Amino acid sequence: MRVLLIGTGGREHAIAAALAADPAVTTLICAPGNPGMAALGELAEVDPLDPAAVAALAVDSGADLVVVGPEAPLVAGVSDAVRAKGIPCFGPSQAAAALEGSKAFAKDVMSAAGVPTARSFVCTSPEELEAALDAFGPPYVVKDDGLAAGKGVVVTEDRDDALAHGAACERVVVEEYLAGPEVSLFVVTDGTAAVPLQPAQDFKRIHDGDAGPNTGGMGAYSPLPWAPADLVDRVMAEVVQPTLAEMRHRGTPFAGVLYVGLALTTDGPKVIEFNCRFGDPETQVVLARLETPLAGVLHAAAIGRLAEDPPLAWRSGAAVCVVMASAGYPESSSKGDVITGADGVPGVIHAGTARRPDGALVTNGGRVLTCTALGETLDDARRTAYQLVHGVQFEGAQFRTDIALAAAENRVSVPVHAT
Ligand code: AMP
Repeated sequence: MRVLLIGTGGREHAIAAALAADPAVTTLICAPGNPGMAALGELAEVDPLDPAAVAALAVDSGADLVVVGPEAPLVAGVSDAVRAKGIPCFGPSQAAAALEGSKAFAKDVMSAAGVPTARSFVCTSPEELEAALDAFGPPYVVKDDGLAAGKGVVVTEDRDDALAHGAACERVVVEEYLAGPEVSLFVVTDGTAAVPLQPAQDFKRIHDGDAGPNTGGMGAYSPLPWAPADLVDRVMAEVVQPTLAEMRHRGTPFAGVLYVGLALTTDGPKVIEFNCRFGDPETQVVLARLETPLAGVLHAAAIGRLAEDPPLAWRSGAAVCVVMASAGYPESSSKGDVITGADGVPGVIHAGTARRPDGALVTNGGRVLTCTALGETLDDARRTAYQLVHGVQFEGAQFRTDIALAAAENRVSVPVHAT
Protein backbone atom coordinates (compact mmCIF):
# COMPACT_ATOMS: atom_id res chain seq x y z
CA MET A 1 0.00 0.00 0.00
CA ARG A 2 1.27 3.48 -0.90
CA VAL A 3 0.14 5.92 1.77
CA LEU A 4 0.14 9.71 1.58
CA LEU A 5 0.00 11.39 5.01
CA ILE A 6 -0.92 15.06 5.20
CA GLY A 7 0.42 17.21 8.04
CA THR A 8 3.53 18.45 9.83
CA GLY A 9 3.05 18.03 13.58
CA GLY A 10 3.77 15.62 16.41
CA ARG A 11 0.51 13.82 15.77
CA GLU A 12 1.53 13.22 12.16
CA HIS A 13 5.00 12.03 13.16
CA ALA A 14 3.33 9.51 15.51
CA ILE A 15 0.90 8.43 12.77
CA ALA A 16 3.81 8.16 10.32
CA ALA A 17 5.71 5.93 12.76
CA ALA A 18 2.71 3.62 13.11
CA LEU A 19 2.14 3.53 9.33
CA ALA A 20 5.82 2.88 8.62
CA ALA A 21 5.73 -0.04 11.06
CA ASP A 22 2.80 -1.64 9.17
CA PRO A 23 4.19 -4.37 6.87
CA ALA A 24 1.41 -3.62 4.37
CA VAL A 25 2.84 -0.13 3.76
CA THR A 26 5.40 -0.23 0.96
CA THR A 27 5.76 3.53 0.52
CA LEU A 28 5.00 6.37 2.90
CA ILE A 29 4.89 9.92 1.62
CA CYS A 30 4.55 12.72 4.18
CA ALA A 31 3.43 16.11 2.95
CA PRO A 32 4.73 18.55 3.96
CA GLY A 33 6.14 16.42 6.82
CA ASN A 34 8.89 17.43 9.24
CA PRO A 35 12.51 16.41 9.95
CA GLY A 36 11.35 13.54 12.18
CA MET A 37 9.07 12.16 9.47
CA ALA A 38 11.90 12.42 6.92
CA ALA A 39 13.47 9.39 8.60
CA LEU A 40 10.30 7.33 8.03
CA GLY A 41 9.28 8.15 4.48
CA GLU A 42 9.61 10.50 1.53
CA LEU A 43 8.69 14.15 2.04
CA ALA A 44 6.66 16.05 -0.56
CA GLU A 45 5.77 19.73 -0.76
CA VAL A 46 2.09 20.64 -0.68
CA ASP A 47 -0.19 23.27 0.78
CA PRO A 48 -2.35 21.10 3.09
CA LEU A 49 -5.13 23.69 2.92
CA ASP A 50 -5.42 23.45 -0.87
CA PRO A 51 -7.79 20.55 -1.65
CA ALA A 52 -6.96 20.51 -5.38
CA ALA A 53 -3.21 20.45 -4.68
CA VAL A 54 -3.52 17.59 -2.18
CA ALA A 55 -5.73 15.61 -4.58
CA ALA A 56 -3.23 16.17 -7.41
CA LEU A 57 -0.38 14.98 -5.18
CA ALA A 58 -2.42 11.89 -4.25
CA VAL A 59 -2.85 11.06 -7.96
CA ASP A 60 0.77 11.86 -8.90
CA SER A 61 2.17 9.79 -6.06
CA GLY A 62 -0.04 6.79 -6.87
CA ALA A 63 -1.48 6.77 -3.36
CA ASP A 64 -3.74 3.87 -2.37
CA LEU A 65 -4.72 5.70 0.80
CA VAL A 66 -4.53 9.32 1.93
CA VAL A 67 -4.53 10.03 5.68
CA VAL A 68 -5.26 13.60 6.74
CA GLY A 69 -3.81 14.49 10.16
CA PRO A 70 -4.94 18.02 11.09
CA GLU A 71 -8.39 19.57 11.24
CA ALA A 72 -7.86 22.60 9.01
CA PRO A 73 -7.42 20.63 5.73
CA LEU A 74 -10.52 18.56 6.58
CA VAL A 75 -12.56 21.68 7.24
CA ALA A 76 -11.20 23.04 3.94
CA GLY A 77 -12.55 19.97 2.07
CA VAL A 78 -9.35 18.02 1.36
CA SER A 79 -10.90 14.58 1.86
CA ASP A 80 -13.75 15.36 -0.56
CA ALA A 81 -11.24 16.41 -3.22
CA VAL A 82 -9.17 13.24 -2.76
CA ARG A 83 -12.23 10.97 -2.85
CA ALA A 84 -13.43 12.71 -6.00
CA LYS A 85 -10.30 11.27 -7.65
CA GLY A 86 -11.39 7.78 -6.61
CA ILE A 87 -8.69 7.47 -3.93
CA PRO A 88 -9.67 6.27 -0.44
CA CYS A 89 -9.15 9.01 2.13
CA PHE A 90 -9.11 8.66 5.90
CA GLY A 91 -10.71 11.81 7.24
CA PRO A 92 -14.26 13.18 7.25
CA SER A 93 -15.89 15.19 4.49
CA GLN A 94 -15.97 18.96 4.79
CA ALA A 95 -19.63 18.79 5.85
CA ALA A 96 -18.92 16.23 8.59
CA ALA A 97 -15.77 18.03 9.78
CA ALA A 98 -18.07 20.85 10.92
CA LEU A 99 -18.43 18.77 14.11
CA GLU A 100 -15.09 20.38 14.96
CA GLY A 101 -15.18 23.39 12.65
CA SER A 102 -18.14 24.94 14.44
CA LYS A 103 -18.82 24.46 18.13
CA ALA A 104 -22.37 25.72 17.60
CA PHE A 105 -22.95 23.02 14.93
CA ALA A 106 -21.56 20.35 17.27
CA LYS A 107 -23.92 21.52 20.02
CA ASP A 108 -26.85 21.32 17.61
CA VAL A 109 -25.96 17.75 16.61
CA MET A 110 -25.52 16.73 20.24
CA SER A 111 -28.84 18.23 21.18
CA ALA A 112 -30.64 16.45 18.32
CA ALA A 113 -28.91 13.17 19.18
CA GLY A 114 -29.57 13.44 22.94
CA VAL A 115 -25.85 13.36 23.74
CA PRO A 116 -24.92 14.48 27.29
CA THR A 117 -22.98 17.76 27.14
CA ALA A 118 -22.74 21.12 28.92
CA ARG A 119 -25.73 23.43 28.56
CA SER A 120 -24.76 26.35 26.36
CA PHE A 121 -25.73 29.57 24.60
CA VAL A 122 -24.49 30.84 21.24
CA CYS A 123 -23.87 34.61 21.53
CA THR A 124 -23.39 37.15 18.76
CA SER A 125 -23.65 40.40 20.78
CA PRO A 126 -22.12 41.79 24.03
CA GLU A 127 -25.59 41.80 25.63
CA GLU A 128 -26.12 38.11 24.86
CA LEU A 129 -22.64 37.35 26.13
CA GLU A 130 -23.22 39.09 29.47
CA ALA A 131 -26.59 37.40 29.93
CA ALA A 132 -25.10 33.97 29.18
CA LEU A 133 -22.20 34.48 31.62
CA ASP A 134 -24.62 35.48 34.35
CA ALA A 135 -26.94 32.56 33.60
CA PHE A 136 -24.20 30.04 34.43
CA GLY A 137 -21.97 32.00 36.85
CA PRO A 138 -18.27 31.23 37.47
CA PRO A 139 -16.12 29.44 36.48
CA TYR A 140 -16.93 30.93 33.07
CA VAL A 141 -16.37 28.89 29.90
CA VAL A 142 -16.19 30.98 26.72
CA LYS A 143 -15.40 29.39 23.35
CA ASP A 144 -14.67 30.93 19.99
CA ASP A 145 -17.11 29.25 17.59
CA GLY A 146 -14.53 28.49 14.90
CA LEU A 147 -11.24 26.62 14.68
CA ALA A 148 -8.59 28.01 17.05
CA ALA A 149 -5.93 25.28 17.35
CA GLY A 150 -6.97 24.41 20.89
CA LYS A 151 -6.58 28.00 22.04
CA GLY A 152 -10.04 29.45 21.46
CA VAL A 153 -11.35 28.45 24.87
CA VAL A 154 -11.07 30.43 28.07
CA VAL A 155 -12.06 28.95 31.41
CA THR A 156 -11.83 31.61 34.10
CA GLU A 157 -13.23 32.81 37.42
CA ASP A 158 -12.74 36.38 36.22
CA ARG A 159 -15.86 37.82 34.56
CA ASP A 160 -13.86 40.62 32.87
CA ASP A 161 -11.49 38.07 31.28
CA ALA A 162 -14.48 36.07 30.08
CA LEU A 163 -16.06 39.21 28.61
CA ALA A 164 -12.81 40.27 26.94
CA HIS A 165 -12.30 36.85 25.31
CA GLY A 166 -15.90 36.77 24.13
CA ALA A 167 -15.74 40.31 22.76
CA ALA A 168 -12.73 39.34 20.61
CA CYS A 169 -14.72 36.62 18.80
CA GLU A 170 -17.40 37.09 16.17
CA ARG A 171 -19.56 34.32 17.54
CA VAL A 172 -19.03 32.63 20.89
CA VAL A 173 -20.42 29.66 22.73
CA VAL A 174 -20.81 30.17 26.49
CA GLU A 175 -21.12 26.96 28.44
CA GLU A 176 -21.85 25.66 31.87
CA TYR A 177 -18.63 24.54 33.60
CA LEU A 178 -18.21 20.76 33.78
CA ALA A 179 -16.31 19.56 36.86
CA GLY A 180 -14.51 16.22 36.75
CA PRO A 181 -11.45 14.56 35.22
CA GLU A 182 -11.13 14.81 31.45
CA VAL A 183 -10.79 11.92 29.03
CA SER A 184 -9.95 11.88 25.32
CA LEU A 185 -11.44 8.97 23.41
CA PHE A 186 -10.59 8.44 19.73
CA VAL A 187 -13.09 6.41 17.72
CA VAL A 188 -12.22 5.19 14.22
CA THR A 189 -15.37 5.00 12.15
CA ASP A 190 -16.51 4.44 8.58
CA GLY A 191 -19.72 6.30 9.35
CA THR A 192 -21.58 3.26 10.69
CA ALA A 193 -19.15 0.79 12.27
CA ALA A 194 -17.07 2.37 15.04
CA VAL A 195 -13.98 1.11 16.86
CA PRO A 196 -12.79 2.90 20.01
CA LEU A 197 -9.07 3.23 20.70
CA GLN A 198 -7.90 3.20 24.31
CA PRO A 199 -8.74 6.35 26.28
CA ALA A 200 -6.06 8.91 27.14
CA GLN A 201 -5.78 12.06 29.20
CA ASP A 202 -4.01 15.19 28.09
CA PHE A 203 -2.79 18.26 29.95
CA LYS A 204 -4.05 21.48 28.43
CA ARG A 205 -2.53 24.13 30.67
CA ILE A 206 1.01 25.37 30.15
CA HIS A 207 2.22 25.06 33.77
CA ASP A 208 2.43 22.37 36.44
CA GLY A 209 -0.65 21.99 38.60
CA ASP A 210 -2.88 22.98 35.64
CA ALA A 211 -1.90 26.63 36.01
CA GLY A 212 -1.61 29.23 33.25
CA PRO A 213 -3.36 29.49 29.90
CA ASN A 214 -4.66 26.65 27.73
CA THR A 215 -2.33 25.27 25.06
CA GLY A 216 -2.66 22.71 22.29
CA GLY A 217 -1.63 20.14 24.96
CA MET A 218 1.53 19.70 27.05
CA GLY A 219 1.56 15.94 27.59
CA ALA A 220 -0.58 12.83 27.78
CA TYR A 221 -0.82 9.29 29.08
CA SER A 222 -2.76 6.13 28.34
CA PRO A 223 -4.45 3.97 29.51
CA LEU A 224 -6.30 5.53 32.46
CA PRO A 225 -6.01 3.27 35.50
CA TRP A 226 -8.67 5.24 37.33
CA ALA A 227 -11.34 5.18 34.61
CA PRO A 228 -14.54 3.24 35.27
CA ALA A 229 -14.48 -0.20 33.61
CA ASP A 230 -17.62 0.56 31.60
CA LEU A 231 -16.48 4.02 30.44
CA VAL A 232 -15.75 3.20 26.81
CA ASP A 233 -18.90 1.08 26.33
CA ARG A 234 -20.96 3.83 27.93
CA VAL A 235 -19.49 6.57 25.73
CA MET A 236 -19.96 4.43 22.62
CA ALA A 237 -23.63 3.89 23.52
CA GLU A 238 -24.50 7.35 24.86
CA VAL A 239 -22.33 9.57 22.68
CA VAL A 240 -20.72 7.96 19.64
CA GLN A 241 -23.51 5.82 18.18
CA PRO A 242 -26.20 8.53 18.56
CA THR A 243 -23.86 11.14 17.03
CA LEU A 244 -22.97 8.91 14.05
CA ALA A 245 -26.67 8.12 13.57
CA GLU A 246 -27.55 11.83 13.62
CA MET A 247 -24.81 12.60 11.08
CA ARG A 248 -26.11 9.81 8.79
CA HIS A 249 -29.64 11.13 9.26
CA ARG A 250 -28.47 14.58 8.12
CA GLY A 251 -26.99 13.05 4.98
CA THR A 252 -23.44 13.86 6.09
CA PRO A 253 -22.08 10.64 7.60
CA PHE A 254 -18.97 11.12 9.69
CA ALA A 255 -16.08 8.83 8.67
CA GLY A 256 -12.59 9.21 10.10
CA VAL A 257 -11.62 9.73 13.72
CA LEU A 258 -14.27 11.10 16.01
CA TYR A 259 -12.32 12.53 18.95
CA VAL A 260 -14.59 12.74 21.95
CA GLY A 261 -13.35 15.08 24.69
CA LEU A 262 -15.22 14.23 27.88
CA ALA A 263 -15.53 15.38 31.46
CA LEU A 264 -16.46 12.62 33.91
CA THR A 265 -18.95 14.52 36.06
CA THR A 266 -21.13 13.43 38.96
CA ASP A 267 -23.88 12.98 36.37
CA GLY A 268 -21.74 10.72 34.19
CA PRO A 269 -19.59 11.39 31.13
CA LYS A 270 -20.43 14.62 29.29
CA VAL A 271 -18.96 15.84 26.03
CA ILE A 272 -16.68 18.88 26.28
CA GLU A 273 -15.91 18.89 22.58
CA PHE A 274 -15.78 16.87 19.39
CA ASN A 275 -12.79 16.96 17.10
CA CYS A 276 -12.71 15.46 13.63
CA ARG A 277 -9.18 14.00 13.77
CA PHE A 278 -6.64 12.40 16.09
CA GLY A 279 -5.65 14.59 19.06
CA ASP A 280 -2.18 15.91 19.71
CA PRO A 281 -0.44 14.83 21.95
CA GLU A 282 -2.78 11.93 22.92
CA THR A 283 -2.08 10.21 19.57
CA GLN A 284 1.56 9.85 20.55
CA VAL A 285 0.64 7.68 23.57
CA VAL A 286 -2.36 5.86 22.11
CA LEU A 287 -0.61 4.74 18.92
CA ALA A 288 2.53 3.80 20.87
CA ARG A 289 0.45 1.04 22.49
CA LEU A 290 -1.52 -0.06 19.43
CA GLU A 291 -0.32 -3.46 18.23
CA THR A 292 -2.70 -3.84 15.27
CA PRO A 293 -1.10 -2.48 12.07
CA LEU A 294 -2.58 1.01 11.61
CA ALA A 295 -2.79 1.31 7.82
CA GLY A 296 -5.19 -1.63 7.53
CA VAL A 297 -7.54 -0.07 10.10
CA LEU A 298 -7.53 3.37 8.47
CA HIS A 299 -7.97 1.85 4.98
CA ALA A 300 -10.93 -0.24 6.15
CA ALA A 301 -12.53 2.90 7.63
CA ALA A 302 -11.85 4.87 4.44
CA ILE A 303 -13.57 2.28 2.22
CA GLY A 304 -16.51 1.58 4.57
CA ARG A 305 -15.46 -1.93 5.60
CA LEU A 306 -14.49 -1.45 9.23
CA ALA A 307 -17.14 -3.92 10.42
CA GLU A 308 -15.14 -6.75 8.77
CA ASP A 309 -11.97 -6.00 10.80
CA PRO A 310 -10.92 -8.11 13.81
CA PRO A 311 -10.78 -6.33 17.21
CA LEU A 312 -7.77 -4.12 17.91
CA ALA A 313 -4.83 -5.54 19.87
CA TRP A 314 -2.92 -3.47 22.45
CA ARG A 315 0.50 -3.68 24.08
CA SER A 316 0.41 -4.13 27.84
CA GLY A 317 1.69 -1.43 30.17
CA ALA A 318 1.41 2.33 29.83
CA ALA A 319 2.61 5.19 27.64
CA VAL A 320 3.46 8.74 28.68
CA CYS A 321 4.49 11.70 26.56
CA VAL A 322 5.84 15.09 27.58
CA VAL A 323 5.72 18.05 25.20
CA MET A 324 8.68 20.42 25.00
CA ALA A 325 7.56 23.87 23.86
CA SER A 326 9.54 26.88 22.74
CA ALA A 327 10.01 30.10 24.69
CA GLY A 328 6.92 32.30 24.77
CA TYR A 329 4.42 29.49 24.05
CA PRO A 330 1.39 29.66 24.02
CA GLU A 331 1.24 33.43 23.47
CA SER A 332 4.04 33.32 20.90
CA SER A 333 6.78 30.94 19.85
CA SER A 334 10.48 31.12 19.20
CA LYS A 335 11.98 29.87 15.95
CA GLY A 336 15.51 29.01 14.90
CA ASP A 337 16.93 27.92 18.28
CA VAL A 338 19.32 24.99 17.86
CA ILE A 339 18.08 21.69 19.33
CA THR A 340 20.60 19.15 20.58
CA GLY A 341 20.09 15.57 21.74
CA ALA A 342 16.95 14.93 19.69
CA ASP A 343 18.11 13.76 16.26
CA GLY A 344 17.28 10.12 15.64
CA VAL A 345 16.54 9.43 19.32
CA PRO A 346 13.78 6.77 19.57
CA GLY A 347 10.73 8.19 21.37
CA VAL A 348 11.49 11.79 20.40
CA ILE A 349 8.60 12.84 18.19
CA HIS A 350 9.04 16.01 16.15
CA ALA A 351 6.36 18.69 16.01
CA GLY A 352 7.70 22.22 15.44
CA THR A 353 11.20 21.44 14.22
CA ALA A 354 13.06 22.38 11.05
CA ARG A 355 16.34 21.42 9.41
CA ARG A 356 18.70 24.33 8.68
CA PRO A 357 20.69 24.21 5.42
CA ASP A 358 23.79 23.39 7.50
CA GLY A 359 21.99 20.32 8.86
CA ALA A 360 21.29 21.68 12.35
CA LEU A 361 17.91 20.84 13.89
CA VAL A 362 16.16 24.01 15.07
CA THR A 363 12.89 25.02 16.72
CA ASN A 364 10.12 25.98 14.33
CA GLY A 365 6.95 26.53 16.32
CA GLY A 366 5.25 26.50 19.69
CA ARG A 367 5.23 22.82 20.51
CA VAL A 368 8.65 21.59 19.38
CA LEU A 369 8.97 17.93 20.39
CA THR A 370 7.11 15.22 22.27
CA CYS A 371 9.16 12.77 24.34
CA THR A 372 7.19 9.52 24.37
CA ALA A 373 7.91 6.36 26.32
CA LEU A 374 6.35 2.99 27.09
CA GLY A 375 6.69 1.26 30.46
CA GLU A 376 5.33 -1.61 32.49
CA THR A 377 3.59 0.95 34.71
CA LEU A 378 2.73 4.64 34.37
CA ASP A 379 5.56 5.38 36.76
CA ASP A 380 8.07 3.51 34.55
CA ALA A 381 6.79 5.24 31.43
CA ARG A 382 7.02 8.66 33.16
CA ARG A 383 10.57 8.04 34.25
CA THR A 384 11.69 7.10 30.73
CA ALA A 385 9.79 10.00 29.13
CA TYR A 386 11.48 12.50 31.47
CA GLN A 387 14.89 10.90 30.82
CA LEU A 388 14.27 11.67 27.15
CA VAL A 389 13.25 15.25 28.04
CA HIS A 390 16.44 15.79 30.00
CA GLY A 391 18.52 14.58 27.06
CA VAL A 392 17.13 17.28 24.76
CA GLN A 393 18.28 20.89 24.93
CA PHE A 394 17.22 24.12 23.31
CA GLU A 395 17.07 27.76 24.44
CA GLY A 396 13.99 28.57 26.52
CA ALA A 397 12.53 25.03 26.48
CA GLN A 398 9.32 24.75 28.50
CA PHE A 399 7.80 21.50 29.72
CA ARG A 400 5.59 20.35 32.56
CA THR A 401 7.10 18.13 35.23
CA ASP A 402 3.79 16.63 36.41
CA ILE A 403 2.51 14.78 33.34
CA ALA A 404 0.71 11.60 34.51
CA LEU A 405 2.00 12.16 38.05
CA ALA A 406 -1.37 12.22 39.82
CA ALA A 407 -2.50 9.08 37.96
CA ALA A 408 0.78 7.28 38.73
CA GLU A 409 0.23 8.12 42.41
CA ASN A 410 -3.43 7.03 42.29
CA ARG A 411 -4.63 10.55 43.01
CA VAL A 412 -7.19 10.83 40.19
CA SER A 413 -10.75 9.86 40.98
CA VAL A 414 -14.09 10.15 39.30
CA PRO A 415 -16.61 12.15 41.34
CA VAL A 416 -19.68 10.22 42.45
CA HIS A 417 -23.19 11.49 43.01
CA ALA A 418 -23.70 12.57 46.63
CA THR A 419 -26.56 10.52 48.07
P1 AMP B 1 -12.06 22.59 23.98
O1 AMP B 1 -11.23 23.29 22.95
O2 AMP B 1 -13.53 22.75 23.83
O3 AMP B 1 -11.60 21.19 24.22
O4 AMP B 1 -11.64 23.24 25.36
C1 AMP B 1 -10.33 23.25 25.80
C2 AMP B 1 -10.27 22.91 27.26
O5 AMP B 1 -11.05 23.84 28.02
C3 AMP B 1 -10.86 21.54 27.61
O6 AMP B 1 -9.97 20.50 27.43
C4 AMP B 1 -11.21 21.75 29.05
O7 AMP B 1 -10.06 21.64 29.87
C5 AMP B 1 -11.67 23.18 29.10
N1 AMP B 1 -13.14 23.23 28.94
C6 AMP B 1 -13.83 23.41 27.80
N2 AMP B 1 -15.15 23.38 28.02
C7 AMP B 1 -15.32 23.19 29.34
C8 AMP B 1 -16.47 23.09 30.20
N3 AMP B 1 -17.71 23.20 29.73
N4 AMP B 1 -16.25 22.88 31.51
C9 AMP B 1 -14.99 22.77 32.00
N5 AMP B 1 -13.88 22.89 31.27
C10 AMP B 1 -14.03 23.09 29.94
